[in-house]
Amino acid sequence: MSLSHTTEPFTDDDDALRRYLAEAHLPSLLPALAQVTGDMSLLRADLAPRTGLDARIQGGLSDEQQATARELAFDALKAFRDGGFKVAPAPTDEQLHQMMSYMTAGGLTEEYFPLLFEELQCSGEDARAPKWTKESIDGNTPFQVAIIGSGMSGILAGIRMKQAHVPFVILEKNADLGGTWFENRYPGARVDSSNHLYSYSFAQRNDWPYHYSTQDVLLDYFRGVAEEYDLRPNIRFSTEVESATWDEAKAAWVLKLRTPGGEETLEVNALVSAVGQLNRPKIPTIAGMNTFEGPAFHSAQWDASVDLAGKRVAVIGTGASASQLIPIVAQQAEHLTIYQRTPNWYIPVPNYHAEVEPGLQWLFRHVPFYAQWYRFSLFWSSTDGLIPMAKVDPEWQPRNLSVSAENQMLRDLMVEYLKAQLEDRPDLLEKVIPQYPPASKRIVLDNGIWAATLRRPNVDLVTTPVKEITPRGVVTEDGTETAVDVIIYGTGFQASRFLTPMKVYGTGGQDLHGQWDGDARAYMGITVPNFPNLFLMYGPNTNIVVNGSIVYFSECEVNYIMGCIRLLLERGLHAMSPKKDVHDAYNVRIDEGNRTMAWGVSTVNSWYKNDYGRVAQNWPFSLLEYWQQTREPNPDDYVLS
Ligand code: NAP
Repeated sequence: MSLSHTTEPFTDDDDALRRYLAEAHLPSLLPALAQVTGDMSLLRADLAPRTGLDARIQGGLSDEQQATARELAFDALKAFRDGGFKVAPAPTDEQLHQMMSYMTAGGLTEEYFPLLFEELQCSGEDARAPKWTKESIDGNTPFQVAIIGSGMSGILAGIRMKQAHVPFVILEKNADLGGTWFENRYPGARVDSSNHLYSYSFAQRNDWPYHYSTQDVLLDYFRGVAEEYDLRPNIRFSTEVESATWDEAKAAWVLKLRTPGGEETLEVNALVSAVGQLNRPKIPTIAGMNTFEGPAFHSAQWDASVDLAGKRVAVIGTGASASQLIPIVAQQAEHLTIYQRTPNWYIPVPNYHAEVEPGLQWLFRHVPFYAQWYRFSLFWSSTDGLIPMAKVDPEWQPRNLSVSAENQMLRDLMVEYLKAQLEDRPDLLEKVIPQYPPASKRIVLDNGIWAATLRRPNVDLVTTPVKEITPRGVVTEDGTETAVDVIIYGTGFQASRFLTPMKVYGTGGQDLHGQWDGDARAYMGITVPNFPNLFLMYGPNTNIVVNGSIVYFSECEVNYIMGCIRLLLERGLHAMSPKKDVHDAYNVRIDEGNRTMAWGVSTVNSWYKNDYGRVAQNWPFSLLEYWQQTREPNPDDYVLS
């Protein structure tokens, strides 16, 4: 695995270059070559990519446009090789604008520019690294941070603390790092945003093996990054935080830890929770479930000792996790019964399981800036550009199947996709077309494997609700009992029960779960009134449904958290917690925002809503807005002491 931005010179001949170019992503190759050569005339208006649903492949360029773009790229690449790999001076701001405007079909507004400059790592450096260290502010006052969790967010927080020389420890309940990628080992587990986006902006790989990598590749990536930043010595494994209590006199969090050596107490000045939203499995209560005589387990607690070959298997649930494991289980089991409560929307992504093409891999390795521009292209086309598809048009009626013209277009595309695959199976088709607007629930990526799995002779899709489980199998409400040997629960996570099962007590002994009462809220998704120096990552209302990668959010959050720590150190403060009125007004705005999105108005059940029906998980605005609001804390928003 290489985390380097550096590209290698090459000696490959013209024929080889043409072969590689046949597999190039052209809309991002031309800006890369424009940057390499300094020749902005490569960004020809007649070859500019489009945006939108029909532009997902090669920016919607026609075959003829693609051929012309390849010829241009070939000439530039050949000249680069024959001219001794000379790279033009760094582009001016105007040139960068020009390249970004080209890639976004002119959709780029001025305010995006600084965000994209940072996200694209245009300066060639880690633009989000703290630009201060603890000793540059106050080297004497002791200040120690505990980070709970060593998944994607916890590793990131550790890196930033290390860069700022803030002493920290990461407390990890598991025996190794990786969080969700350590735990979710079910067959078929892979990421559903492109890897070039689902990776830290400052630790890019030129050599991702897949466009959407598998669990083992991601686990390796996070381990590799942790090693690169020498984080392991800071992580205490098999160490679970049972409770955290704010001691006002000491201005410290007192943590009760369960460690391999027994109970322990740890005092820290600030506490970062990086435990994720999707960490605690949700297993439904079904009558008789404990009487089942065979193995039964949750997708996130996969029992690899159970050989499914020759077995009759039931999978309950068909969400994102189950949609990944079901096709593999169907290939292994003698018979598979799928219990579906609500069908998903499946969006066609032909390269969902594909390896990154060798030509594209080669180009990433040898064309300077290409991987960054490719990331930029994904960033733009799969993030804020998608918001209109999930946004409610107030005039649009009825809203039970779609919420706007764009949303209806998305619906049509996905209905047609299912129909094309199941035209001859009306029995299946009626079960799989969702009766709710797209983006009310997570849209699942698909390369045709879902319909192909449902068509298998050894697979049954049952939509009659499950009534009970017997020692031998599963009984549905119509009284049918299906005998099975194994039950797999793909039933999701206790997403709205943030930070459970930890006990957290703030000012005056205030219980966090008591304060939330099942309706978790935070300011910026990060800080909570009455809980000084507690910082949440992937906290309330920081999940994204259609636009982007959660790594981006974590990078914004940790930037804000580092700003808070800096504020404490600079002002010689002991504690900060958000003012209640500021926090409440923020949450009113969030709730209003969520009511303008498909997931906010749809009545379909989803993990995006808590028991009160409030969307406590999702961020309803653009990525740009989250970046802007997390650039640095405003001291006026806080009670400081
Ligand atoms: P989920 O989306 O919450 O799906 C849970 C499934 O179980 C749903 O189909 C749900 O039906 C069903 N279910 C729950 N209780 C049930 C019951 N009592 N009887 C019958 N069915 C029941 O959970 P998930 O699939 O684990 O995914 C959660 C999130 O994790 C995703 O949305 C995504 O953000 C993330 N994820 C990402 C990836 C990836 O990157 N590739 C993979 C997996 C998960 P209803 O729909 O009717 O509630």
